[in-house]
Amino acid sequence: MQKPYVIGVDMGGTNTVFGVVDARGNVVLKSAIKTGAHPNDVNRYIDDIHDELSKLIEQVGGLEKIKGIGIGAPNGNYYTGNIEFAPNLPWKGIIPFAKLMSEKFGIPAALTNDANAAAIGEMTYGVARGMKNFIMITLGTGVGSGIIIDGKLVYGHDGFAGELGHAIVVRSNGRVCGCGRTGCLEAYTSATGVARTAREMLETGNKASLLRNVPIESITSKDVYDAALQGDQVALDIFEYTGRILGEAFANFVAFSAPEAIVLFGGLAKAGDFIKKPVVEHMERNILQIWKGKVKVLFSELKEADAAILGASALAWEL
Ligand SMILES: [Zn+2]
Repeated sequence: MQKPYVIGVDMGGTNTVFGVVDARGNVVLKSAIKTGAHPNDVNRYIDDIHDELSKLIEQVGGLEKIKGIGIGAPNGNYYTGNIEFAPNLPWKGIIPFAKLMSEKFGIPAALTNDANAAAIGEMTYGVARGMKNFIMITLGTGVGSGIIIDGKLVYGHDGFAGELGHAIVVRSNGRVCGCGRTGCLEAYTSATGVARTAREMLETGNKASLLRNVPIESITSKDVYDAALQGDQVALDIFEYTGRILGEAFANFVAFSAPEAIVLFGGLAKAGDFIKKPVVEHMERNILQIWKGKVKVLFSELKEADAAILGASALAWEL
């Protein structure tokens, strides 16, 4: 009998969320624990997940109904199942997380980074169903990507492929990025990048703006969105600038893998046309002739509250 469910586990710096998912992409049961409760002992963290998740598994009829466990984790390596030197997790070094989870639960487990998981989730349950070539771009605290070519996620030689957020887009005097280099896409088009653009524009310009009512150090990309909704010109300029950098980068990404679509996911994707219009405009302006008008820019269709669990879970159908 085909096993009807998979487990998705999404490990974030603060919370770890997990759920039981059916083949249509419904999260039928879910729960969460704190990621950092046992900073010195990853096995106790896994015990916590096991305690909570076992209750959910029992409710759908036990382990024999579960095909496997898919895990999305920062710096997760699909080939090895290891989490390697993740800066935002409490455990340092290399953690054989997929192996530990598989041993604890007694079913297969696979792991990849969260952006790759999102790409597989979109292909399995979302807007990219049926597509064989697309690029997923996650616009959150950072910028991640998952690249699908010929229906397969590209993992690369070492398992880490798809770090388009760290493509360098500004060559001189670029912003410092979290990776230690300068000028990365992430430093401009992540939520923190947008907030930084806002601060720079407010400090160097003198246009009136609703954003001047917010303490400058605490401006978020959400504030920029709210101001744009009210027609604030500085907020619109911020989206134009962000969208230009993103669209120019997309023109390069298209040259690499000729995707049918680029799918946007994450907080900034909620800005809708404010971000999409300049992205499409500048992508088209910079793209090679053969691809003009051919590459769709789409928004994720995964329900936001469940997207991380769904993305991770999709990995488990392949086990
Ligand atoms: Zn970087």
